[in-house]
Amino acid sequence: MNSTSSKAKKTSGNVVITAERCKGCGFCVEFCPTEALKLSSQYNTKGYHPPTLVFKDKCNGCDMCGIMCPDFAIYGYRLMLK
Ligand code: SF4
Ligand code: SF4
Repeated sequence: MNSTSSKAKKTSGNVVITAERCKGCGFCVEFCPTEALKLSSQYNTKGYHPPTLVFKDKCNGCDMCGIMCPDFAIYGYRLMLK
């Protein structure tokens, strides 16, 4: 059976993280619907672990992380794929 999908992915997502604003609360990680984020093992200058996009292919750019972040330290955006 041919399982070639005609529903090719037309958008992708990415995030912008301003690590120095982050206070490591983890809301972005907790509320990401695709589980694309984790808190980094690195520290920012305030001593917190900022998030990192560990599964870039999972990010759909929904910006739930940005909506939930109390410190405007992250936002997501969509990219159009060719
Ligand atoms: S933009 Fe959406 S999918 Fe991407 S990391 Fe943020 S919450 Fe997750
Ligand atoms: S929600 Fe904002 S402050 Fe909290 S861990 Fe994520 S980026 Fe940092």
